[in-house]
Amino acid sequence: MPNDKDYNKVNVLIVGAGPAGLSCAIQLKVQKPDADICVLEKAADLGNHNLSGAVLETEPLHTLLDTAIPGWRDSESAKDVLAKKIRKDNVMFLLGKELSFNISFTIKLAKKFGLGFGQMMHKNDYIVSISKLTKWLGQIAKELGVEVLTGFAAEDIILDESTGMTKAVKLVDQGLDKEGRKQPNFVEGETIRADFVVLAEGCDGLLTEKFVEKAGLKRRCPQLYSVGVKELIKVNSRQYKKFTSGRVVHAMGYPIWTPVLGPGLFGGGIIYPADDDNIVVGMIVGADWKYRDFNPQDALTNFKNHRFVKQFIAGGTVIEAGAKMIPEGGYYSIPRDPQTGSIGKGNCIIAGDSAGFVNMLKIKGLHNAIDSAIAAAKAIVEYSDNPSATAAKYTELIESSNVAKEMRSARNFRQTVAKFGPLQGMPISVLGGLLPEFKIEEDYKAMTAARYRLKPKQQFDKDTFTAMAATEHREEQPCHLEILDSKICAEKCTPKFNSPCITFCPAGVYETVHDVVKPANPSNCLHCKTCQRKCPFDNIRWTVPEGTGGPRYKRM
Ligand code: SF4
Ligand code: SF4
Repeated sequence: MPNDKDYNKVNVLIVGAGPAGLSCAIQLKVQKPDADICVLEKAADLGNHNLSGAVLETEPLHTLLDTAIPGWRDSESAKDVLAKKIRKDNVMFLLGKELSFNISFTIKLAKKFGLGFGQMMHKNDYIVSISKLTKWLGQIAKELGVEVLTGFAAEDIILDESTGMTKAVKLVDQGLDKEGRKQPNFVEGETIRADFVVLAEGCDGLLTEKFVEKAGLKRRCPQLYSVGVKELIKVNSRQYKKFTSGRVVHAMGYPIWTPVLGPGLFGGGIIYPADDDNIVVGMIVGADWKYRDFNPQDALTNFKNHRFVKQFIAGGTVIEAGAKMIPEGGYYSIPRDPQTGSIGKGNCIIAGDSAGFVNMLKIKGLHNAIDSAIAAAKAIVEYSDNPSATAAKYTELIESSNVAKEMRSARNFRQTVAKFGPLQGMPISVLGGLLPEFKIEEDYKAMTAARYRLKPKQQFDKDTFTAMAATEHREEQPCHLEILDSKICAEKCTPKFNSPCITFCPAGVYETVHDVVKPANPSNCLHCKTCQRKCPFDNIRWTVPEGTGGPRYKRM
């Protein structure tokens, strides 16, 4: 760290420089310009670890920036980030490899009648690259005086046992070798103390989950996840023009759920245009898939080969790729203090995707991430003299905000689909709040010995995919992926499920080496955390590698 300033104590420490963390920092600086605010980010550069769909409802961004930087809309960077307003919004149903039906009218009808599905329309929202959005917000935060520290990974959160208040965050040690021995360049991870801590690490945050455990927070329903894989494909200008600027396609059906003998997986595909003759194609699949040989990349391959999709991308070249999980459990999966209902405890607040503020009826969470971050900042400012009440105030603000309104309206959706499967669950979920609360188990418990019957003949090229994510880690460091008990792999998982981590890890990290399943290629890791949530025996732990490691997304 630079030594012209004492970073060991700050007013507010924000973990994660994504849209939530940076929005919180900006709002704090607006309301309290003299506050000492530090944002920690494990990625080498801002936006490198951010990947999303991404469709943005801009109201929360307007609320944030209208006060922070008057006239921001006229800046070149704002125009670049918000270049693509959605003019045409298609929801397609794909049947088999050839047929496609535009079913947007059903969603519009649902909207007209106030049904939950109606939220799925995105017209007048914006197509954004979350990597670019993050970089831009980071620049704004820095200009306002926030210390944004990239390349600093946090590995632990320290609570005062007697008061339950959060005292500090410990950074990961640097300069250990593979066996954990100190090398000449060893630097012990510093401990940064703070009056307030905001956890805004995104989905399945390491510190967030540690905090949930240490502070005794509980979820009514376990968090459910989906896995998203996405490619940015350079196409020719004729194809690019075919995909009208400002058009977004969301596709259901093939290859993950279809009415007749389909695989019965929840999720869908996305297609939308990016800059410079690039088209984004992605696939999102509920992590409760039951097929031992399934990989969301196989579904992406099938999707790309569907006649409807192929016309836009045939002959194109993948220039960037990546994978990430999305928290889908909704309102009942928000971690709360069982006594007070607070989303956090005392002086520590959980915001954005870390709290699970994704509305699955909209398939969006970015606007909620920004909105919740603004609420976090307001609670901190209001309770600057009484930190122990901050999480409670934050929760009060959230519960009366649009975030909670949306989350409540979608509260049964994902659980209903998980309970009944997409074909029956989607129509049943129309009943919304009239439905009972279904008890759902963690995604990893859904694994069976069944096989995905649409497995593409050709194996997915994970090496190229990983290269397109530009992921890298220092090779000579301890492996950040831990298999808790190798005996479980050998005696239970391999015979029953054929070691699914080898198949589902999008980066090919796991391999069988001399008959033992190992995270053989940890430096390929994309930090998607799928393995931690999908190993059928809950036998994998993702720990944090040294700062700067991981993917280097630029336009995801
Ligand atoms: Fe199976 Fe998990 Fe072992 Fe992989 S790590 S072989 S998924 S038990
Ligand atoms: Fe994702 Fe785990 Fe594979 Fe890393 S090792 S890319 S976190 S599934």
